[in-house]
Amino acid sequence: MGRITTWCLILGLTLLATAGPVVAQSGSGEGFDVEAATQEYLSRMSPEERARSDAYFEGGYWLQLWGFLYTLGVAWLLLGTGLSGRLRDRAEQWTRHRPLQTAIYTAFYLIITTILFFPLSVYQQFFREHQYDLATQSFPEWMRDFSVDLGLSVVLLPLLFIALYGVFRRAPKTWWLWGSVVGLGFLAFLILIAPVFIDPLFNTYEPLEDPAIKEPILVMARENGIEVDNVFQFDASRQSNRVSANVSGFLGTMAIRLNDNLLNRCSLAEIKEVMAHEIGHYVLNHIYELLIVFGLILVGGFGFVRWAFDRVVAKWGQSWSVRGIGDIAGLPLLTALFATYFFVMTPFVNTTIRVNEAEADLFALHAAREPDGAAEVALKLSEYRKMDPGPIEEWIFYDHPSGRARIHMAMTWKAENLPAADPVVGVGSEAE
Ligand SMILES: [Zn+2]
Repeated sequence: MGRITTWCLILGLTLLATAGPVVAQSGSGEGFDVEAATQEYLSRMSPEERARSDAYFEGGYWLQLWGFLYTLGVAWLLLGTGLSGRLRDRAEQWTRHRPLQTAIYTAFYLIITTILFFPLSVYQQFFREHQYDLATQSFPEWMRDFSVDLGLSVVLLPLLFIALYGVFRRAPKTWWLWGSVVGLGFLAFLILIAPVFIDPLFNTYEPLEDPAIKEPILVMARENGIEVDNVFQFDASRQSNRVSANVSGFLGTMAIRLNDNLLNRCSLAEIKEVMAHEIGHYVLNHIYELLIVFGLILVGGFGFVRWAFDRVVAKWGQSWSVRGIGDIAGLPLLTALFATYFFVMTPFVNTTIRVNEAEADLFALHAAREPDGAAEVALKLSEYRKMDPGPIEEWIFYDHPSGRARIHMAMTWKAENLPAADPVVGVGSEAE
């Protein structure tokens, strides 16, 4: 996963959801058994399918650990061999202009780390995705996306580091607070430009034409106070067969987009649930909420770095040729410390996002009133997310509720709402 995408993912901006063929749906009413209905959906997944999805998702836990350790190893390599210090010296020889030195160092740094991380990237993003039949890209197509992502980093990351190291040097005591402001500002900037300048580099976005799908979505949007006249679709099938949709951007660039896998694989009831979920993120201001929470997490991260950086540099700074926080040669150490902080914070970041996702699920049930559609979607999503984790496992690793939790919520809602409110909708008659 690319650096830019990772940043966006951290904020939960790729809000995934899936769906599948609608089978006979039991009507709700007197004697509707929530547990039995949940179990009925869960049993639709064969033992083979479940083993496959569990293996894929649990392998992801280990990849998080290996990725973290790999990051520490790369940082140690750059610092311990003195390479980082030499790159800084080279940049200082070429120019006396500080921001330009930072940009030159960053370019070197990106090239070297991209090469060192390449084996892990190609395994995780290409071979492993094909191994589990989730990817649709050929290797050249994948390389093309990988290169575009690298190009984006080469353009955007120097801007971040020039600003960061600017405040590091100008505010010797309060750099960690100003650093948080810069970090959060950069994140907000990324979210703002992503729908307009970044996403179109990877996929084609166009207005959704089919009135049979577009109209019900626009009606739901208007019912919930969103004035839109367009819904967008994009060719996610270029990269994978995962069903998903997302809300991205903020202020003037916010848009709701659904992917073509969703259109091709799902019934209208399921599409309505997914889009109502995305509308929920929008109406509940989740992007702003996550920006605020992530800002606080970032302040904590900079606080940790402030505590740790000077201690490490006091001990090894001389042998690594790192002069202090304002020295760009310390970037690998800065990266390693942040990687450590976010590795430890994984459960808190995931839980923050997961709570919002559950809110959006509940919003969607009220707005779309298709609990069986929601359950079908949860079933499809479990192609790549373990269906039934333990509670601690869910707390640590899940940035969305598990399939089981989502189906149970949908069936509970169905038992309590549909019989009295609207007996007709309960059978999902408008699904096809
Ligand atoms: Zn979501």
